[in-house]
Amino acid sequence: MNSETMKALVIKEPGSASIESVPRPTVDQGKILLRVRMVGLCGSDLNSFRGKNPMVQFPRIPGHEIAATIVEGIFSFPALAAGVNVTMSPYTNCGKCASCLRGRPNACAFNETLGVQRDGALAEFITMPPEKLYPAALSIKELCLVEPLTVGFHAIARGRVTSADKVAIFGCGGVGLGAIAASHFSGATTIAVDLDDDKLQLAKKAGAKHIVNSTKAPLHEQLLELTDGRGPDVIIEAVGHPQTFRAAVEEVAFTGRVVYIGYAKEPVTYETKLFVQKELDILGSRNALPEDFRSVIKMLEERKFPVEDAVGTIVSFDDAPGILAAWSSNSLEFTKIMVQLD
Ligand SMILES: [Zn+2]
Ligand SMILES: [Zn+2]
Repeated sequence: MNSETMKALVIKEPGSASIESVPRPTVDQGKILLRVRMVGLCGSDLNSFRGKNPMVQFPRIPGHEIAATIVEGIFSFPALAAGVNVTMSPYTNCGKCASCLRGRPNACAFNETLGVQRDGALAEFITMPPEKLYPAALSIKELCLVEPLTVGFHAIARGRVTSADKVAIFGCGGVGLGAIAASHFSGATTIAVDLDDDKLQLAKKAGAKHIVNSTKAPLHEQLLELTDGRGPDVIIEAVGHPQTFRAAVEEVAFTGRVVYIGYAKEPVTYETKLFVQKELDILGSRNALPEDFRSVIKMLEERKFPVEDAVGTIVSFDDAPGILAAWSSNSLEFTKIMVQLD
């Protein structure tokens, strides 16, 4: 029995989080003990805090965007020695479902994400299997940004984006920003679409060549003008509204690709003849693969992402419950929040 305890942020019920004393994890066979250094918060954590995610049961420790330092390594993984800083994949994969058998463990039917179906990383220590860890020559803040960016990188990979493509990204929040950076990093001409000028300015710094505020002029005309009258070759939907779900198939070029990362909370009605008439590839995109983690790390190592601009607020561990509550009551006031644990 391990009687040692540690501090953790626990959401006890919707709307109520506090720093609690919980048992410190014991190091199971084949796992690595890590000291958590920084954890980023994203919309899914906010959803959990608000009790809006049906997959979350309470009490729950949130946190899946993680920078940590290895406390105790494993002999068989020399790159993962004590003292090495890492980021990590917060997903599990069963190895037996259709997705896993097809080599697409990111879409495992039985996935458990840290902080969602199982306790997450807003605690002093966690243990992880070595294959989920990614050491990199990055700062703690950069390591913490890797996971949120991988989701957009995966969408760009799903869309088979090349440097010949004109790619429009609908929505410049955390996920959309990753897709913008990935599109630019792959050499494509990148068009960022949002309703918010501040987000569009950040999108520009992340690599968008063109920015489109769809409240200021009709989206259709603006996109045609930027794509020689054909429409974008690829559209990434990172909003999750029925309107943007539909606009993606309406605006994309003939024989183009549409990638959905946004989760629509209600059914969407479509003019399905466009699927056939344009012979579209319509793709879903979920979580990320190991190669997406490696691509984001490469981009950050090459200093090609505006890290300082992308992080809005850094708070101490003790202030984390307060910032969750403040964010929940005024979600527009905050951009990316990170919690520093040391
Ligand atoms: Zn996240
Ligand atoms: Zn599986």
